[in-house]
Amino acid sequence: MDNPTNQQVANPPLAVCPQPVAQPPAQTSPQPAAQPASETKPVPQQPPDDKLKQLQEAILAANIPQMVMMAISYALEIRASDIHIEPLENRVRIRYRVDGVLRHIVEYPTNLHPAVVSRIKIMSNLKIDEQRIPQDGRADVTTKEGRAMDLRVSTLPTVNSEKIVMRIQDKSKKIPDLPELGIAGVSLKNLEAALQSPNGIIITTGPTGSGKTTTLYSCLMRLNKTEVNILTIEDPVEIQMDGLNQSQVHHDINYNFETGMRAALRQDPNIIMVGEIRDKETADTAIEASLTGHLVLSTLHTNSAVESITRIVNMGIQPYLLTSTLELIIAQRLVRKMCQKCKKPVETSPEMIEIIKKAMEKLYVKGEIDPELLKNMQFFESPGCAECNNIGYKGRVGLYEVLRINNEIRKLILSGATTMDIQEAAQKNGMVTLEQGGIINALQGMTTIEEVYRVSRKSE
Ligand SMILES: [Zn+2]
Repeated sequence: MDNPTNQQVANPPLAVCPQPVAQPPAQTSPQPAAQPASETKPVPQQPPDDKLKQLQEAILAANIPQMVMMAISYALEIRASDIHIEPLENRVRIRYRVDGVLRHIVEYPTNLHPAVVSRIKIMSNLKIDEQRIPQDGRADVTTKEGRAMDLRVSTLPTVNSEKIVMRIQDKSKKIPDLPELGIAGVSLKNLEAALQSPNGIIITTGPTGSGKTTTLYSCLMRLNKTEVNILTIEDPVEIQMDGLNQSQVHHDINYNFETGMRAALRQDPNIIMVGEIRDKETADTAIEASLTGHLVLSTLHTNSAVESITRIVNMGIQPYLLTSTLELIIAQRLVRKMCQKCKKPVETSPEMIEIIKKAMEKLYVKGEIDPELLKNMQFFESPGCAECNNIGYKGRVGLYEVLRINNEIRKLILSGATTMDIQEAAQKNGMVTLEQGGIINALQGMTTIEEVYRVSRKSE
């Protein structure tokens, strides 16, 4: 089924951008396509909407190849991560996920849908005549600028015919370094120190889609040197990095995180990255690897850094084993970045200011934010403009809560202290919480305060 590595699919890369080969027949003069945005006229809509228009025209002309091509092309243009093609009762809807949020793009009549599905299935080597079971496939596409994209196609039979989701992955995208992810100040210093350890466990935690794996890849990029052997056990291998030995689990043949880790330990490793610590078996193996002199990187599903400790103990791990191996925990979320073009100051309610002040009173570490920004708290909003497609947001940045396990935290864990006690001590030892980190970002005009509380819902 699913290929473990980026094995090339037999069909040739599909060129998405070599533009409209087949124009809708009636169209006499397709507007001056290559005209660069003239700076003089404040025209609200520029190139992105050209592609949307071409998509709409292809639908009107029932030009299926052009429809599929423009749907992908427009998605690439506006940096969508997923394309959803959803048959509803009497129409088919196309939505894109951009910066983590779904957005309505266009609709087309249901009678076109079978041809659209067939077209996409051919592209991604799926069985056209099989419509009763879900299928997975992939295709390679290349943009006008020559960027290679990986398209993961998944079909699902629904009561209204087959739904298609295409996940777009930019293969040429380079892995960002830690500061580019938004890790800064004391959090970055602590993480860099932990990455220097010859052994120990480093964990990233957060909900699905919070960028945990990307953070681990950025860590691995720093560690990736000729002198060390790095092995990864992943599900699936998301990004391939030169110099690493990456392996993908296969649950159907009992090749899972735990058995993968055991095999990795026989491969003379220095550093092991394991996709997720899900159960006691994987946790045991990670601890064993750390105790025998290896650095282990992994992820967990918890809400905060401190909660991860409780989670691992609840898996049945002895606290003394945890305290002798755990180095650092990073809890994280992704927030949407505010559009800088239409950003303007906004009033914040006194109640909100109170909540924010209370959170910031417990920021014990100095130098994380300009004190002036805290004195007269000014937040911003972006009402939307052509630059951000009227969304007000463009791109995303991470919020990080980095907990370095020091002797004080170890003592607390060993004495069975409550999550609240450990949280308090962690903050006094310099941990910036997700909420505080978000407020700092919002005060610096990177994101909105709504966005911060949307992802870091937490108050005492
Ligand atoms: Zn804007």
